[in-house]
Amino acid sequence: MSTIFDKIISREIPADIIYEDEQVLAFKDIAPKAPVHYLIIPKQPIATLNDANPEHQALLGHMMLTAAKLAKEAGVAEGGYRVQMNCNPDGGQVVYHIHLHLMGGRAFCA
Ligand code: AMP
Repeated sequence: MSTIFDKIISREIPADIIYEDEQVLAFKDIAPKAPVHYLIIPKQPIATLNDANPEHQALLGHMMLTAAKLAKEAGVAEGGYRVQMNCNPDGGQVVYHIHLHLMGGRAFCA
Protein backbone atom coordinates (compact mmCIF):
# COMPACT_ATOMS: atom_id res chain seq x y z
CA MET A 1 0.00 0.00 0.00
CA SER A 2 1.31 3.42 -0.97
CA THR A 3 2.08 5.90 1.80
CA ILE A 4 2.92 9.56 2.02
CA PHE A 5 6.61 8.57 2.14
CA ASP A 6 6.33 6.97 -1.32
CA LYS A 7 5.06 10.33 -2.56
CA ILE A 8 8.05 12.07 -0.96
CA ILE A 9 10.44 9.59 -2.64
CA SER A 10 8.79 10.22 -6.03
CA ARG A 11 8.71 13.99 -5.37
CA GLU A 12 4.91 14.07 -5.74
CA ILE A 13 4.85 15.97 -2.46
CA PRO A 14 7.62 18.22 -1.16
CA ALA A 15 9.87 17.55 1.80
CA ASP A 16 12.91 19.23 3.25
CA ILE A 17 15.39 16.63 2.02
CA ILE A 18 18.67 16.40 3.91
CA TYR A 19 20.32 13.40 2.27
CA GLU A 20 19.74 10.89 -0.50
CA ASP A 21 21.60 7.94 -1.95
CA GLU A 22 20.58 4.88 -3.94
CA GLN A 23 19.11 3.16 -0.88
CA VAL A 24 17.72 5.80 1.47
CA LEU A 25 16.21 9.25 1.72
CA ALA A 26 16.38 11.53 4.79
CA PHE A 27 14.22 14.58 5.36
CA LYS A 28 13.05 16.83 8.18
CA ASP A 29 10.06 15.65 10.18
CA ILE A 30 7.08 17.92 9.55
CA ALA A 31 6.25 18.01 13.28
CA PRO A 32 9.67 18.03 14.96
CA LYS A 33 10.00 16.81 18.53
CA ALA A 34 13.57 18.11 18.85
CA PRO A 35 15.67 20.87 17.25
CA VAL A 36 17.05 18.19 14.93
CA HIS A 37 14.38 15.69 13.87
CA TYR A 38 15.05 13.82 10.65
CA LEU A 39 13.36 10.76 9.21
CA ILE A 40 15.54 8.20 7.42
CA ILE A 41 13.56 5.95 5.11
CA PRO A 42 14.48 3.20 2.69
CA LYS A 43 13.49 3.84 -0.92
CA GLN A 44 12.20 0.28 -0.94
CA PRO A 45 8.83 0.12 0.84
CA ILE A 46 8.79 -2.12 3.90
CA ALA A 47 5.63 -1.54 5.94
CA THR A 48 6.89 -2.36 9.43
CA LEU A 49 9.94 -3.80 11.11
CA ASN A 50 7.93 -7.04 11.36
CA ASP A 51 8.04 -7.22 7.56
CA ALA A 52 11.83 -6.98 7.39
CA ASN A 53 13.74 -10.18 6.69
CA PRO A 54 17.39 -11.21 6.42
CA GLU A 55 17.54 -9.79 2.87
CA HIS A 56 17.04 -6.35 4.44
CA GLN A 57 19.90 -6.70 6.92
CA ALA A 58 22.37 -4.52 5.00
CA LEU A 59 19.68 -1.92 4.28
CA LEU A 60 18.74 -1.67 7.96
CA GLY A 61 22.40 -1.30 8.86
CA HIS A 62 22.79 1.39 6.23
CA MET A 63 19.84 3.28 7.73
CA MET A 64 21.55 3.23 11.15
CA LEU A 65 24.91 4.35 9.76
CA THR A 66 23.15 7.11 7.82
CA ALA A 67 21.56 8.29 11.07
CA ALA A 68 24.99 8.47 12.73
CA LYS A 69 26.48 10.33 9.74
CA LEU A 70 23.63 12.86 9.68
CA ALA A 71 23.87 13.33 13.47
CA LYS A 72 27.55 14.24 13.04
CA GLU A 73 26.73 16.61 10.18
CA ALA A 74 23.97 18.25 12.26
CA GLY A 75 26.42 18.79 15.13
CA VAL A 76 24.55 16.67 17.66
CA ALA A 77 26.73 13.55 17.70
CA GLU A 78 28.93 14.53 20.60
CA GLY A 79 26.10 15.75 22.83
CA GLY A 80 24.04 12.73 21.92
CA TYR A 81 20.86 11.91 20.10
CA ARG A 82 18.04 9.40 19.91
CA VAL A 83 17.35 6.99 17.03
CA GLN A 84 13.94 5.34 17.15
CA MET A 85 11.79 3.11 14.98
CA ASN A 86 8.13 2.67 15.89
CA CYS A 87 6.31 -0.54 15.01
CA ASN A 88 2.55 -0.95 14.70
CA PRO A 89 -0.12 0.87 16.73
CA ASP A 90 1.20 0.10 20.21
CA GLY A 91 4.64 1.27 19.09
CA GLY A 92 3.18 4.55 17.88
CA GLN A 93 3.68 3.89 14.17
CA VAL A 94 1.52 6.13 11.99
CA VAL A 95 3.19 5.85 8.57
CA TYR A 96 3.50 2.27 7.34
CA HIS A 97 6.83 2.60 5.54
CA ILE A 98 9.65 1.91 7.97
CA HIS A 99 11.63 4.92 9.09
CA LEU A 100 14.17 5.89 11.68
CA HIS A 101 13.57 9.02 13.71
CA LEU A 102 16.86 10.84 14.36
CA MET A 103 16.29 13.36 17.15
CA GLY A 104 18.89 15.57 18.76
CA GLY A 105 19.69 19.03 20.01
CA ARG A 106 17.99 18.53 23.36
CA ALA A 107 18.22 16.08 26.24
CA PHE A 108 15.82 13.14 26.36
CA CYS A 109 14.79 11.33 29.51
CA ALA A 110 16.10 7.79 29.90
P1 AMP B 1 5.65 7.32 13.12
O1 AMP B 1 4.69 7.76 14.18
O2 AMP B 1 6.86 6.64 13.67
O3 AMP B 1 4.97 6.54 12.01
O4 AMP B 1 6.20 8.67 12.52
C1 AMP B 1 5.70 9.29 11.38
C2 AMP B 1 6.34 10.64 11.33
O5 AMP B 1 6.18 11.17 10.03
C3 AMP B 1 5.76 11.67 12.30
O6 AMP B 1 6.78 12.14 13.19
C4 AMP B 1 5.24 12.77 11.39
O7 AMP B 1 5.41 14.06 11.93
C5 AMP B 1 6.06 12.56 10.13
N1 AMP B 1 5.45 13.01 8.90
C6 AMP B 1 4.22 12.74 8.43
N2 AMP B 1 4.01 13.32 7.24
C7 AMP B 1 5.16 13.96 6.93
C8 AMP B 1 5.59 14.75 5.83
N3 AMP B 1 4.79 15.01 4.79
N4 AMP B 1 6.84 15.27 5.85
C9 AMP B 1 7.66 15.04 6.88
N5 AMP B 1 7.32 14.30 7.96
C10 AMP B 1 6.08 13.78 7.99
